[in-house]
This record gives sequence, structure tokens and C-alpha cells, in this order.
Amino acid sequence: MKVSFPHMGNAYIPLSSLLSNLGAEVIVPPRPTRKTIDMGALHAPEFVCLPFKVNLGDNLRALQMGSDTLAMVSGMWACRFGYYGRVQHQILRDVGFEFDSILLGREGLGTVYNKFRDTVEGSLLRGWAHAVRSFKHKAEAMDALEMAARKVRPFERERGSASSVLADGLAGVHQAQTIKATDAALREALGVMDSIETEPPAREPLDIAVVGEIYAVLEPALNFDIERKLGEMGIIVHPVMSVYKWLFRPLKIDPSILVDERLARRIAKPYIAYVLGGEEHQTITGTIRAARHGYDGVIHLYPFTCMPENICRTILPRVESEFDIPVLNLCLDEHASPAGMATRLEAFVDLLRERRRR
Ligand code: SF4
Repeated sequence: MKVSFPHMGNAYIPLSSLLSNLGAEVIVPPRPTRKTIDMGALHAPEFVCLPFKVNLGDNLRALQMGSDTLAMVSGMWACRFGYYGRVQHQILRDVGFEFDSILLGREGLGTVYNKFRDTVEGSLLRGWAHAVRSFKHKAEAMDALEMAARKVRPFERERGSASSVLADGLAGVHQAQTIKATDAALREALGVMDSIETEPPAREPLDIAVVGEIYAVLEPALNFDIERKLGEMGIIVHPVMSVYKWLFRPLKIDPSILVDERLARRIAKPYIAYVLGGEEHQTITGTIRAARHGYDGVIHLYPFTCMPENICRTILPRVESEFDIPVLNLCLDEHASPAGMATRLEAFVDLLRERRRR
């Protein structure tokens, strides 16, 4: 089985480990670029949301690289994400590709479990247990490295040091073949991260929360690597979501994620009483919490035509004035440019600095 899946931040690291431990050959498409978006946009319905186009482009590239199986998280979300897997795979079959589908969340657990009956050597149950353990380990290592880089970046003496240590550390974790090797790669990368030379900032750094649609917040190819950009401008970034939470939320094995989810829905209720199927409660609650923690501002990222986040977009001005916190809304589509993004970020940061000074 040559299996592939679309990108979502660094999720490819734990997902590759899960699938390779189940005996599949994993084909990771190149990180999404302009070309990926163009390839996806060519075959996608024009008004579908941008993540669909990027995912479709990833899948096209994976098939061109020889994948014979495509895996995709699917489900019954109220927003379009619930249909992504089925619709994308139908489009790819209409284009002429032949492949097998694994639709996690749509097919019953038993179907997915049994898909690997021929690839796992020995007991299937033991194979799954080991694969899930390794998946969890790699996800935790990835999360720890991302958090460490986020902390160091605003204070590094040489711009880009934390990002380059992060990239090397993630590569080490990705290549590790065993749980012991994963731990060793993590320890080594955290040690290097700790030894990065830092300096006290010229002025007190700003704190900015990043909220919005999950793919727009977590995929650097879509948001022009906003976390890194802000960090290197000396800003402490607080994304309200992480790849780790996205991976573990549906598995319901980390109680802290479930508690946080419930709490977020409760805090957001006066503004948004219904479940829209996206991250609307995290967007509203993330903005309220940012104000309560005394952060300087909030950046709201959302794809053009995203149903839940466009609804949040109309609610946020009220939250902004009630809680007295500036919000920058950044709408992303395939025409968004890095220069346009940089200009708006710089203007927003200037405004926040002036506000802090006053
Ligand atoms: S949350 Fe928005 S962008 Fe993401 S799949 Fe749903 S509608 Fe599309």
C-alpha cells in the first residue's frame, strides 16, 4: 500500500509514523506551494473554500508521485469539511486516477482497522497498538518543539536561528524509527534550542493571539508563515490552536482538550449560540481570552467563502469593542500575496505599539 494524505502544518510527522508502523509505504507530497494551489484550483469548484483547493493539489501531487491509496479525515461537520474527502476523491477519479480511499471518520472504525490486515506483520491488534503509541509520541515531540521555537524566536540574537533549529529538530523526529530514537531526537533539539543566543528586546514585546479557521491558522503555506514572521518581528505569538490539538481532539483521549473545547463553547455562547461546524467557538473565545490576559491584539485568519469564520467576522467587531482589544481580520484566498500580508501586519503592529506606548 502506497499511502498519502494532504498537508496540515507538521501533521505529516505523526501521520507518517502511524501509517509506516502499520506496514504502509508513506508518500509525503512536497509542502504546498503556489503550484499546489494552482493545481487544486484548476479542478476544484470555483467558490469552494481555499483549504479544499490546497488539499486537492496535495492529493494530485501525491498521485503523480505514485500513491495508490489516499487517506483523509472526513466526517459530518456542518461546514464543508465533512465532504472534503468524498468530493475530492470523486474529482480525482473523474480526472482519471485510480486509487483506494481511506476516509477516517466516515468509514466505520472496523473498516479502517481491517484495511491494514495484509500490511501488518503478525498480530493486527499489536500492530495498531504500537502504531498509535508511536503516533502519539511523535505528535508530542512535534508540539514540544513548536512551543520551544515560539518561546525563543522573539528574543533570538540572530534572526532565523529558532526556525532553523526547529526545522532540523522536526527532521530528526520525523526520521526516528523507534520511540527511543524519537525521545533522543527531541532531547537533542531542545538542547540546541536552549543554547540559542538571546538578547533582551529593545522594547517590551507585544503579545498577539492568532485565531480563525484551523487550516488557515496552522498551515504556513496558506498564511505565509505568519507565526514565524511575527516571532521574528519580536512579537510573542499565541495561536489558539495547534496541530497536536487538531489530531487528538477527535480521538478524545486527551481530557484537557475536551475540557477546553467545552469551556470555549460556554464562553462563546452569548455571541454564537449554535455549532457551525468549524472553529467559531475558539475564534470568539480566543479573542475574549486574549483581552482578559492583557494581550495587545488579535489576528483573525480565515479563508474566503469559509462559512463559520465569515459569521465570526460579523460578530468580532462587537467582541472587539466590548473587550477593548484590536482585531485584524485577514481573509485568505489564492490571490493573497506575501507583500499584501506583510504590509497589513506591519501596519497592525505599528498601531499596537502606539497603543501600548499611550
Ligand atoms: S471551516 Fe471554513 S474553510 Fe474550513 S472547511 Fe469549513 S467552510 Fe471550509
